[in-house]
Order: sequence, then structure tokens, then C-alpha cells
Amino acid sequence: MQNKQNDGYIRIEKLAKQYDRVKAVDNVSLSIAKGELFGLMGSSGSGKSTLLQMLAGLEPPTDGRIFIDGEDMTHVPPHLRPVNMMFQSYALFPHMSVSQNIAFGLEQDPLSRIEIQKRVDEMLTIVSMRDYAHEKPHTLSGGQRQRIALARSLAKRPKLLLLDEPMGALDKNLRDRMQLEVVNILEELGATCLLVTHDQDEAMTMSQRIGIMDKGEIIQMGTPKEVYEYPNCTFSAKFLGSVNIFSATVGEELAETTLLTVPEMQSQVQVDRCLSLPEGLQVWVAVRPEKVNLSIERPESAYNVSSGRVHDIAYMGSHSVYHVTLESGKKLEAYVYHSDRFIAEPITWEDKVYVHFPADSVVVLQG
Ligand code: ADP
Ligand code: MG
Repeated sequence: MQNKQNDGYIRIEKLAKQYDRVKAVDNVSLSIAKGELFGLMGSSGSGKSTLLQMLAGLEPPTDGRIFIDGEDMTHVPPHLRPVNMMFQSYALFPHMSVSQNIAFGLEQDPLSRIEIQKRVDEMLTIVSMRDYAHEKPHTLSGGQRQRIALARSLAKRPKLLLLDEPMGALDKNLRDRMQLEVVNILEELGATCLLVTHDQDEAMTMSQRIGIMDKGEIIQMGTPKEVYEYPNCTFSAKFLGSVNIFSATVGEELAETTLLTVPEMQSQVQVDRCLSLPEGLQVWVAVRPEKVNLSIERPESAYNVSSGRVHDIAYMGSHSVYHVTLESGKKLEAYVYHSDRFIAEPITWEDKVYVHFPADSVVVLQG
């Protein structure tokens, strides 16, 4: 999954949709590169489906513009847009064979029988379903049905493919497998996609970039790693993965470090960079649980240390989630990875522990 040069193949400019009372989409601007898969995440009601529907032409925007491959599509009716949508339910026709389902969208196009058959065969090969060409959808497994729905939505070679919760109907194991399979198919065809999902693993596995939507706005976008490691606000930090958040006050700035006072840790937190924030400013300090180290012995560092008691341990197989209650009463999560099967004296319930994290693992947020 390489990053594509952003050529603005799909360009959304200040798009807005006002329903009677709600601003479902609020001033969204977004550029998607040709061949890119952009994942849109957000809680229910944040405006994801409304955005997709405006791109498909099913809802007129209240404001803003949509360009596809340089052409203004804002007011073009749905059937004239080079856009296709794949729904969660797949919406395959039960009385048609796999081949007929894939061919369905092509029948309206000025293509000859031979050309249609060629395109269907090509799609069947790409989704590895040649042997099932004459089957009816009800004889297929969930994963196979999904591949057919994908083949059907890609057969017309849309310039933009919209995927609304594409894995929603599959169980967990199949979903994990299909995510990579679908990405491979999309890459092979060079398809440009906007994927909507509430599943963060899915968004991160499949997308080159992700956007987090809240109340109609995209509040942050970037590569999965950028958004996870450098969230720009507490909402974004909490939305993607688990995080420990403390209220803090900016203290002294030195040449290449900044100190913050964190009452809930009863200690100062040091970050490895100059924040250029005024002393005394109230901010938030965020630390991911996998960056927090636990120890029985007090660590040497004077900063980024606190102590507490283990009040819960959740065994997750690859790691355990330790819930530590700090002396201030604040609860903190730390992940301990099980790279070794046997540890002589593992930290356990009710142990008094020190928590510590490195200066480069701290994110400072202003909102
Ligand atoms: P999501 O897909 O992220 O769950 P939606 O785009 O479906 O969010 O909805 C965004 C907001 O717009 C919600 O508050 C929803 O109630 C409202 N909304 C969506 N469709 C309509 C509609 N047709 N009429 C009125 N309000 C709508
Ligand atoms: Mg929706």
C-alpha cells in the first residue's frame, strides 16, 4: 500500500448538506488520488453516508462542489456519474447467475455482447470466481458473494467506487481475510475508492489514508500511522485505539524538551520537543497503552513516572491489558506483550507498580 501522489482525481470542495434541523455534512474538503483507497471513519450519525450519497448523486448538496477527474459533477444525475456504490447487503439478484449479476450494469452501456462477456470473464478471474460463473448467489458463501458484488460494482470501471461498510455482513475471521483480498483486487484494477467503516482495524488495514468524521466535519486525516501516532485532538486520539489522557499544564520549555505538570500522575511529564506553547496553558497529555512500561522497581527517570496498584488484568492472547489505579485515583491502561511464554515473576493483581513512558511517546493536545 504505497502512498499515491495526490493529483486531486476526486476533489470535494467545501461540501455541505443541511437537512431540516441537522447539518449532516459541514464544509468538507477532501482530495483523493487516482488509485487511492481513502477510509472514512466516524461514529453513527457523523455524516458518512450522507457524504457518500452526495458523491453518488443520490442527495443534492446544499453547498460546495464535487469534481471527478477534473469534471464538475456536483449537479450531474447519478446514472451519468462515473461512480458506483457497493452496499453492505451486496444487493445481488437472486434469480440471476453470477455472470449475469456481473454483466447487469454493463447492459446499459454501448458494449457488444462479446465485449460484455470479455469484461465479465476478466472480472471473474480477478475475483477468483471463474468456476462459479453459472451458480446462483444463494449457493455461494458470504465471502464469495462479496467478491461477486465487488466484481459487479467494478465491472463498469467506475472512476470512483464507494464502499459503505463492505464487510459488515461477514464474520470476524472472514472479514480479516477479505480485507486484504479486496485491497489486492482494488489495487490490481487501480480503482479509486472511498470506504466507509466503523471498524478501525478495517479502516487501518485497507486504507492508504483515513479521515475521522465528527458532527459532519472531517476533524483529522492522514495515513493510519500519522493519525494513530499524532492525533490532533482528544476526540481523534480516543476514536482510534485506546489512550490514556491526563489534564496538564505547560511548564518550562528548554531547548529541546518541554516539561508539563500532570497532577494526576503526581509528577512532571517531559516531552522530547519544544512545544512553543505559553507557560501555564491548560492542555492534555495523551499516551498509548503500548508505550507505558510497568515495573516493580522504581525507574531511574525523574520524569514520566507514577505509581499505583494493579486492579485488573485482561488476558488478550498476544498481550495483557493492565489496569492500574494511580495514587491520585486516576486509572491507566498499559499493555504487556507476551513475547515470552514464561516469566518467572509476572506482575499480578494488587501489586504495587511503577508506570513509566518515554518522552517521545507523549502527545500534547489542546482540545
Ligand atoms: P452516518 O452514516 O455517519 O451514520 P448519516 O450521514 O446517515 O450518518 O447521518 C448524518 C446526520 O444526518 C444524522 O443526524 C442523521 O439523522 C441526519 N440525516 C441523514 N439522512 C437524513 C434525511 N434524509 N433527512 C433528515 N436527516 C437526515
Ligand atoms: Mg451510515
